[in-house]
Amino acid sequence: MHDIRPVVIVGASLGGMTAARALAGRVSARVYEPAGALEWLPNIHELISGLRRPYNLRVERGPLLAKAGHDWYRQRVERIDAHRHELFLDDGSVQPFSQVIVAVGGRHQTWGIPGADEHALPFKSVSDCRRIAQRLERLSSRPGPLRLVLVGAGVEGVEALGEILRAYGARPGLTIEVVDSAKRVLPALPQSLNEAIRQHCQSWPVNFRLGERVAAVNEQGVSLASGEMLAADLVIWTGGVGPHALLQDSHLNDPSGFAPVSAALHSDHAEGVYVIGDAVSSVAGMLLPKQAYHAMDMGRLAATNIMAARAGKALTDFRPSPKPQIITFGALDTFLISDHRVLAGPSLRVLKEAVYQAGMASFDRRRTTRRLWGLWRRILDSGIDATIDGLRHPDSLAGLVRFRVLE
Ligand SMILES: Cc1cc2nc3c(=O)[nH]c(=O)nc-3n(C[C@H](O)[C@H](O)[C@H](O)COP(=O)(O)OP(=O)(O)OC[C@H]3O[C@@H](n4cnc5c(N)ncnc54)[C@H](O)[C@@H]3O)c2cc1C
Repeated sequence: MHDIRPVVIVGASLGGMTAARALAGRVSARVYEPAGALEWLPNIHELISGLRRPYNLRVERGPLLAKAGHDWYRQRVERIDAHRHELFLDDGSVQPFSQVIVAVGGRHQTWGIPGADEHALPFKSVSDCRRIAQRLERLSSRPGPLRLVLVGAGVEGVEALGEILRAYGARPGLTIEVVDSAKRVLPALPQSLNEAIRQHCQSWPVNFRLGERVAAVNEQGVSLASGEMLAADLVIWTGGVGPHALLQDSHLNDPSGFAPVSAALHSDHAEGVYVIGDAVSSVAGMLLPKQAYHAMDMGRLAATNIMAARAGKALTDFRPSPKPQIITFGALDTFLISDHRVLAGPSLRVLKEAVYQAGMASFDRRRTTRRLWGLWRRILDSGIDATIDGLRHPDSLAGLVRFRVLE
């Protein structure tokens, strides 16, 4: 018998929105997403230096979802009862579903460290990074020292550090303490990146506190587990992504708190429930980095598999695409990492710029003139200057072909 309950998407960011667009013309879904604009997170660190503005990184969801033929509800889903096929919404109502795609991402993670939520600025959204940019601008305009503590030396921390150096590196009195419990910068990536970044930082007022844990944060700064106190005018917290509470509340999680899924992206714990993007812990036991391109590829496949399941056909397995990772380090360098090979060179920034421009253009579905205007403004506003800066760099003047092979 035909199931009249709707298909539902919970969370419409890079993963959920890609799924919504892949379902367009095939099924009309109900999309639950409280936030008005989709945000392109891979470039939010550039808000810190003013290289991007918030509007460069946001696309209104309304036209996108309307064009895809879906109904959008600006509501938060509190819990999913996978056995009864029901969602519990933030207004207390209950919504039945036939199949659901859960794309709620992760959340800012401070590991319960006292004072971290109150006194350290998070780094997880456009508004978070805008707040950091405004605070830095205000603090920098005062005379005297500017003492920053950056918690986290992963990709987000490194990209934030690069933008701080781009904008404030030459400011007299600047000091930056980078704290991470890992023993090296970018611990999940090849060792050569650690060396390259630390070498760059030798000419800047940056001090790495690696292998050290934050014990507490307060108005004066950061206390380390070793007992040392790092005085700070501003603490920026980039230290990790935690699991969304919805996963545990809906019994979709494994011990990590994230949701394990089958090769077809189906929840290991519940019928008719697909989980994608940053909310996933592993795909058929395989751990994947939490990356935008995986979230988008998973969104596309979850939509395909929902249509296949509805038609009684076999589901397709997820094959992670071997896309390289691009990490920018302000105006100083850019790294391209693929299969443990690392290329470096400031001019590689054009690749990140190309991914940004292509990604934003793919989500911008306004009428042609407004879309072209948006594209033009995105190019003019920011990327082009930095890209030209990158090409002017002495290391890269020989053109786009001169890179350093680090590994
Ligand atoms: C600072 C930063 C830099 C990054 N840099 C890169 C990079 O360079 N390259 C790269 O590939 N990736 C990068 N990423 C990772 C990339 O952005 C994520 O992998 C991607 O955004 C994951 O998409 P998602 O759809 O799974 O989740 P998210 O983008 O986290 O979106 C989750 C959505 O769910 C919604 N939601 C949450 N709770 C509910 C609820 N209860 N009900 C309904 N809706 C809900 C949220 O409002 C949000 O819109 C970066 C991430 C950050 C934070």
